Amino acid sequence: MKEIIAYFSMEIGLGAEVPTYSGGLGILAGDTLRAAADLGAPVVAVTLLNRKGYFHQTLTLDGTQEERPVLWEPSRHLQELPQRVAVEVFGRRVLLRLWTFEVLGIGGRSVPVYFLDSNLPENDHKDQGLTDHLYGGDAHYRLSQEIILGIGGVRALKALGYHQVRRYHMNEGHSSLLTLELLADRMRSAGRHYVTADDERTIRRQCVFTTHTPVEAGHDQFDWAVAAAVIARMELDSIKDKLCHQDRLNMTHLALHFSGYTNGVSKKHGEVSRMLLNRSNIDAITNGVHAATWVADSMQRVFDQYCPGWRQDNMLLRRQVLDIAAQEIWKAHLETKRHLLSLVEERADVKLDERIFTIGFARRSTAYKRNDLVFDDLDALKRIAQKAGAFQLVFAGKAHPRDEAGKQMIRRVIEAMGRLKGDLRAVYLPNYDIALGKAITAGCDLWLNNPQPPLEASGTSGMKAALNGVPSLSTLDGWWLEGCFEGLTGWAIGSGEATSDHETERARDAASLYQKLEKVIIPAFYENGGRKYWNVMRQAIAINGSYFNAQRMLQEYVAKAYFCEAPDAPQAPQAIRSIKTPDPRMLSRSLSN
Ligand SMILES: *Cc1c(COP(=O)(O)O)cnc(C)c1O
Repeated sequence: MKEIIAYFSMEIGLGAEVPTYSGGLGILAGDTLRAAADLGAPVVAVTLLNRKGYFHQTLTLDGTQEERPVLWEPSRHLQELPQRVAVEVFGRRVLLRLWTFEVLGIGGRSVPVYFLDSNLPENDHKDQGLTDHLYGGDAHYRLSQEIILGIGGVRALKALGYHQVRRYHMNEGHSSLLTLELLADRMRSAGRHYVTADDERTIRRQCVFTTHTPVEAGHDQFDWAVAAAVIARMELDSIKDKLCHQDRLNMTHLALHFSGYTNGVSKKHGEVSRMLLNRSNIDAITNGVHAATWVADSMQRVFDQYCPGWRQDNMLLRRQVLDIAAQEIWKAHLETKRHLLSLVEERADVKLDERIFTIGFARRSTAYKRNDLVFDDLDALKRIAQKAGAFQLVFAGKAHPRDEAGKQMIRRVIEAMGRLKGDLRAVYLPNYDIALGKAITAGCDLWLNNPQPPLEASGTSGMKAALNGVPSLSTLDGWWLEGCFEGLTGWAIGSGEATSDHETERARDAASLYQKLEKVIIPAFYENGGRKYWNVMRQAIAINGSYFNAQRMLQEYVAKAYFCEAPDAPQAPQAIRSIKTPDPRMLSRSLSN
């Protein structure tokens, strides 16, 4: 059997009907696999079944988020396999069943995804639910899931007959326990009870790691004592002095320690990660989205006509889109916009006007993304609508069930929308998922994004928008530092320069947002029949759509992480320190330029 790349991810977004993802990380994983299938790359993926999905969001009138499990029937979408593997959790044996799904590429090749599922009658009752909830439960639950994903995943690949794994790719630290299983294998076959330097070197040649966020909460840590009790593996004890920091086991440090190649997900995030994780050798591969998945049907028809072959080679969009009459782009966009507006009417019973400038914002509701920023000054919004031209707002986004601040922010957004009634139309669509994500990124006229720099590692929804000819208005963070050409592909909020404190920065960003809308963007949309705006739309596709796609991203992974020679000189172990969400004041924009 040929050599494979084994891609491990706690969540994978395969489609709205397989609800095993929560957001950006899972969708990126899905897009990566779709690009791998297109390219015919020998990738296989491992994830958890997440039998109860993430959650279905409904909103009460005052904006309170209500959550219920998404019941889906795995057997309708996946195929069960006969193999079984077992892992030890808390000293109990947990048997896992396996399911598979084929991600089909445009050339007819495919990439298999293997789902691990603990729902078997042989298992202790509570263990049967271990693969039910994505990011649910307490630390024990999470750790148990990570044992299943990391250790169970390696065993599953073996049981499935994959004996030659060229690289294990840890998509975020959730799967980093896989390194312990690889160590154990080596120790077992050598009949040793201790880890040698050569073991560690060998594992490093096999493993690559992608870190996805500078936010502390994204780096799982467990009390060492708890981890040791749950995992109960001698490999863990033998590396304790190298990995244990303040009596915690940090999954990011574990992944870093055993990876020969590590990357962040935008140039800026690479730099931030080098500081945050105290390592000089963290590279950057900027994210991308799967073009054929995210481009709306009407725009696909235009691309098919003018850029035949664009699905096989996204780079074709770079030159050929500029030859399309801007009005053609606009006509295709208008069709997509109508689709979004009909969805708004159907789901929220709000009638929006297709002639009016429409601003979209859909994002997980969490503090650093500042979902409510545009509502900081409602009078300013009303004034802009009167003076510069009418606009309407379409919002969406879930808050993690335990993120109270995020839930509060949804309430604030909905309350502000209520207060704008009569002056401008605004709507919050519940249950942001892949299908809604596609409709909203393609159907708005402007994609708004205003995270607090430098906390957005990359962001990908603006890339989906760009591929559909929708320019961004965004703070200079993540991918936008690479994709923003002012007035050509979209516009920047603020200068990216850090100020003294969050409050000042927020006020300054809000002012900049209002100023750009009023003086630059809305006039471009309405003046001269919108021709200036159409040009920006076309350039967003040509300049950004041709680059910020999963095809280019995957080719970078192939070249830098999968098929290059493994580094001979392993990463020198460096001092372990706590991972703390970076203080924006320490990071000026000059870092990235
Ligand atoms: C693209 C997408 C995301 C990630 O977008 P960001 O810009 O990284 O926030 C999250 N959820 C859904 C449903 C998406 O389609």
